Amino acid sequence: MLKVMKKKLLVVITMLVVASGFIFTGSTSTEAKSNKVQYLGKYKLTAYCGCKKCSGKWGTRTASGKKAKQGRTIAVDRRKIKLGTKVKIKGKTYVAEDVGGGVKGKHIDVFFSSHKQTMKFGKKKGVKVYKVK
Ligand SMILES: [Zn+2]
Repeated sequence: MLKVMKKKLLVVITMLVVASGFIFTGSTSTEAKSNKVQYLGKYKLTAYCGCKKCSGKWGTRTASGKKAKQGRTIAVDRRKIKLGTKVKIKGKTYVAEDVGGGVKGKHIDVFFSSHKQTMKFGKKKGVKVYKVK
């Protein structure tokens, strides 16, 4: 009898843990949604990769010391956007991790893992850019 009770208690505890896990996950996703954005203006977008033509001796090493990653790394003008800033472009969130000699003012260089993709990306003008707070 006692054994059965213990088993039942264990089930209840397990259920509570699972339930609280759901609540926790729920609250964090609400937090993510409530993240405020600040409009930074219209920017010119270009693309670069780790090849010699794009990055010279730097390769995929960024100014922040991190390895550049497609879908995350962007190069910015530090006077406009501080390194480490989360930047929202066309609904995607990137991180300002790199700088570039040719990246000045309202210009963002988006990192890609292959040169072919940078060619495909080309240049985009007047793209609305937001800072994620
Ligand atoms: Zn390249």
